[in-house]
Amino acid sequence: MHEAALTQGLVKILLKRTAELGVNSVSRVTLKVGRLKAVEPHSLRFCFEMFVKDTVLEGVELVIDTVEARATCLECSESFEVQQFCFRCPECDATSLKLTQGEELFIESFEI
Ligand SMILES: [Zn+2]
Repeated sequence: MHEAALTQGLVKILLKRTAELGVNSVSRVTLKVGRLKAVEPHSLRFCFEMFVKDTVLEGVELVIDTVEARATCLECSESFEVQQFCFRCPECDATSLKLTQGEELFIESFEI
């Protein structure tokens, strides 16, 4: 499962950071997840809860902050939101685009 591998990686980072800080409980974790990662929030949450079981992160409030996919057209410089993985400029129909956001997947913050 796509989400399982991603979540496991994130949990590993979190556990390493909390261990470094000597933290023994975390109240909230905020994740930034770009739309282009095609991560299903429900699955992400499910996997997260599975991986944090019996760790200092167990019972933590997980906040998933979804980042819209945006691109800039290399032909006319139009900046727009990418809808349903349609990589085409709505202004001039060009397909040469530069993605500016939507591929994020990282830990925005955690509160202790
Ligand atoms: Zn364009």
